[in-house]
Amino acid sequence: MSSKRFSIFTYGCQMNRYDTETITGHLEQEGYERSEDFERSDLILLNTCSIRDKAEQKVFSQLGRLSRLKKVNPALKIAVCGCFATREGEGIAKRQPAVDLIFGTQNISELPRLLGRMAKGRVVDVAPVEPDFTEVAPIQREGALSAWVSIARGCDNFCTFCVVPYTRGPEWSKPSALIVAEVEKAVAEGFKEVTLLGQNVNSYGRKTPGELSFGGLLRRLDRLEGLRRVRFMTSHPKDCDEDMVGAMSGGSKVCEHLHLPFQSGSDEVLRRMDRGYTAEEYLSKVGLFRQRVPGGVLTSDVIVGFPGETDRDFEETLGVLHQARFDSIFMFKYSPRPGTPAFSMKDQVPEEAQAERFEKALRLQRQVTEELHLALVGQVLEVMVEKPMEGAPAPACLGCPAASERRPAAPVGFTGRTRGNHRVQFLASGPAPRPGDLVDVRILRGGLHALGGVWPPDSAAMEESAP
Ligand code: SF4
Repeated sequence: MSSKRFSIFTYGCQMNRYDTETITGHLEQEGYERSEDFERSDLILLNTCSIRDKAEQKVFSQLGRLSRLKKVNPALKIAVCGCFATREGEGIAKRQPAVDLIFGTQNISELPRLLGRMAKGRVVDVAPVEPDFTEVAPIQREGALSAWVSIARGCDNFCTFCVVPYTRGPEWSKPSALIVAEVEKAVAEGFKEVTLLGQNVNSYGRKTPGELSFGGLLRRLDRLEGLRRVRFMTSHPKDCDEDMVGAMSGGSKVCEHLHLPFQSGSDEVLRRMDRGYTAEEYLSKVGLFRQRVPGGVLTSDVIVGFPGETDRDFEETLGVLHQARFDSIFMFKYSPRPGTPAFSMKDQVPEEAQAERFEKALRLQRQVTEELHLALVGQVLEVMVEKPMEGAPAPACLGCPAASERRPAAPVGFTGRTRGNHRVQFLASGPAPRPGDLVDVRILRGGLHALGGVWPPDSAAMEESAP
């Protein structure tokens, strides 16, 4: 077995991080060993993102550094993959000749073959191939509690600002039997929670006759033994329906958190984005979720400063923030992406106006988030324990007589997440909970970024020192 080492840098979204896990699985099957010490690696990969301009600039700065490393170690191989590699292909090699391998998001399953070709000279292969959905891909997962499981590849929506349909190709749903097998494998490896990934996760199965619907898939996973929680992202408003929210309301493992990007509150901007819904239709989906999943947590994505967005359009976006009352949002200033229709749209919004709108929307959202989090004070919420808080003794120390002598009844801090995906820091008394345990935490503080509480919920004595 070869003892070659590889390092991988990942940029961008969860889907890219999942791809990194799959690439790692393939490379380990080929005899490579993952290393964090990239200066001593035989192969360095950059798994790139194309969603924002900054991410692309970072790739070229990193390639500049790696090309200097290659001068010292000419045997070093450099590979670039991910969305940016798919879009630019040969262009990356022209700008940075030190690169040995460029492959696309739709060529990951071909990696073993590409490595063989790379031994003979530079390889650029970004031509899409149909996904191999015959068996569970080799995946070397990061973390120990929560596993990502991709349920679909690509996207058919072609929102006018987005590069994904060009870099990840058309939508393909992975067969549900394969998804279940992948989740079962993750559970057997000790994972307690899965997050189903897809660019448009809730259109799952629509193009495949006889396949489960997205709601059907959620219900199927809800019955899976050993699994504690199911999450998913990202959902498209047009595919948010009764079937899906019904599965969220009736499940014990499917968490009551819906991330539903709205992007703009202006019908005119939504039309130019080609999002396929109006603000009113979006808000009716919010109403459906609120009605069917009481207490559910709603989060969203917003773009400010899309080409042609007027002050009035922006006010309509603020109106949706007021009405929908999201628990939190990811907000972006519009960034023009070459190759998308919005790139060449007239009336690009100047940077200063974008920044001003961004700040205004952020202020409003912060206020809403704080109000919602304060309203959770006094409630008892189910938390999945992740790890001891920094500075707290490790749970293992609690069993040690010396430790208990020093801190006989001292509470210990832990972090975890609620079903609604709130980060919680809590003090625990009694036997320390373990990562993956589900515990009922009484919420005593509602901060902007995290909640604070105690476990067990009746630990009155600890209230003063709760995080
Ligand atoms: S649905 Fe999402 S991934 Fe698909 S084109 Fe629109 S923004 Fe991009």
